[in-house]
Amino acid sequence: MDIPRIFTISESAHRIHNPFTPENLASLGAALRLETGTRVLDLGSGSGEMLCTWARDYGVIGTGIDMSPLFTEHAKLRAEELGVADKVKFIHGDAAGYVADEKVGVAACVGATWIGGGVAGTIELLARSLRTGGIILIGEPYWRQVPPTEEVARGCLANSISDFLPLPELLASFGPLGYDVVEMVLANQDGWDRYEAAKWLTMRRWLEANSDDEFANEVRAQLTTEPVRYATYTREYLGWGVFALMQR
Ligand code: SAH
Repeated sequence: MDIPRIFTISESAHRIHNPFTPENLASLGAALRLETGTRVLDLGSGSGEMLCTWARDYGVIGTGIDMSPLFTEHAKLRAEELGVADKVKFIHGDAAGYVADEKVGVAACVGATWIGGGVAGTIELLARSLRTGGIILIGEPYWRQVPPTEEVARGCLANSISDFLPLPELLASFGPLGYDVVEMVLANQDGWDRYEAAKWLTMRRWLEANSDDEFANEVRAQLTTEPVRYATYTREYLGWGVFALMQR
């Protein structure tokens, strides 16, 4: 079981697989006023940076599930490196339908809401693992500017304009689902640059080391087009944030 290969190549050197910087992750942890021993579930945990740093900085106990064997391996190594391997557990698997055995204080899905079939479905899924009074974290894109055309939305790698909402509408959408928004931390364009531009050097180095690979043409094509596509579309139109929710 694995994710499409382009991600495990282009994001192989990423610790954070979204437009958050290490500072954004730390701000979010501080904003949530996490208490030592709080259990955190993370669906689509990537390379584990959120759980590992929060275990180190705030003493949380974490479980992460991710479909990428490579990212899961990186998460385990990161836990060793930060000395928190006794506090966090990383499981390779499909997080769709995953419910924790023991209820958690924080249930998160940060940049992978397709796991629950969209934001609403993911909130429902996370709620099944959450203790009363716990916090749900959803990391999701929103339109900084609504694209003027569907073509521009596709340039942002969305299927259509309707894939995402502007920030006020996204915030408003949580109420009808039965949730208060109790905190949020938003990425900025520098964070987007760290996420997107870091892929380019990784792809370039991969190409130099793997010129005979059957996938080299695909990676070459991406490296050639991505900088301009990103600057034209994603960087201008797409925002990203993590939203903390509590049931009303
Ligand atoms: N939350 C992490 C990773 C976000 S990127 C971070 O912020 O760094 C999206 C992640 O979802 C990738 O690590 C990918 O491997 C994982 N993923 C995709 N589909 C999944 C699924 N069905 N179950 C579990 N993980 C999945």
